[in-house]
Amino acid sequence: MDLLLKGIAKEEGLLVVSLVSTETVEKARLIHDTYPTATAAFGRVLGGALLLSSLLKEGQKVILQVSGDGPLKEMVAEADWLCRVRGYVKRPHIHLELKDEKLDVGRAVGKGIMHVIKDLGLREYYRGSVPLQTGEIATDLAYYLTASEQIPAAVSLGVFVDTDNAVKASGGFMIHVLPGATDETLRYLKERLKKFPPVSSMIREGCGPEEIMEKAMGLPVEVLERKEVHYYCPCSRDRVLDTLVALGEKDMNELAEKDERVNVQCRFCMKEYSVSREELLSLLKAMKNSSG
Ligand SMILES: [Zn+2]
Repeated sequence: MDLLLKGIAKEEGLLVVSLVSTETVEKARLIHDTYPTATAAFGRVLGGALLLSSLLKEGQKVILQVSGDGPLKEMVAEADWLCRVRGYVKRPHIHLELKDEKLDVGRAVGKGIMHVIKDLGLREYYRGSVPLQTGEIATDLAYYLTASEQIPAAVSLGVFVDTDNAVKASGGFMIHVLPGATDETLRYLKERLKKFPPVSSMIREGCGPEEIMEKAMGLPVEVLERKEVHYYCPCSRDRVLDTLVALGEKDMNELAEKDERVNVQCRFCMKEYSVSREELLSLLKAMKNSSG
């Protein structure tokens, strides 16, 4: 079972979030049929959105969007306050040559922008963007937090893809420096993180989120929250019909004239919805009636 843990080292003024997302990222791989480099990149973006979701309040969600000039083009992940995540990759069939025996996520992403959009509820949104620093996602996310949200932070994200292309380990952690942390604490943390092993190796060795948290900090941490993590898409037939209505009368008329059925595929979970001409026509009729 995948988990996200949030904890605090009170005296030192550090907030830490740790994540194990192996099953979730494997599910995402199967849904989107990603090739290894794309799997690693997408897994990190899903993980980044999950780490950010730990800061949300009830009913809120966060969208992490990475757009680059590399072959992957664009990746999007959306996570809600219950740690339910979904996403898509524009070009899932990307696999590049290894770099230093690692999947070359930086090259697959390229130069570009990271956007963070928070749906705070009641039609209130927060938007922030930063230029990508490395395209490796974790460093970009740390840069985003520091530059855009003024939260000094360290972020680590890792995905291990096996020779059979399956995800064998995925996860990460994020440390926020709270106001009041001393320079001594910051120095300690910096030194500690320098020697820290890749988080995907720790998970492969069987470490859970508690151990990742403890090992990253090397300090006693009080766990504040523990949440299960799932790949989840809330799409439904009703939502698909709403999207069609949102196209407007003209486009809907065109669709109804062209084909017997309109097939709509959800880009987050790949589920297909088929809408018949009769259904379209009755939607159109309802629209006309409601607009009087
Ligand atoms: Zn869906």
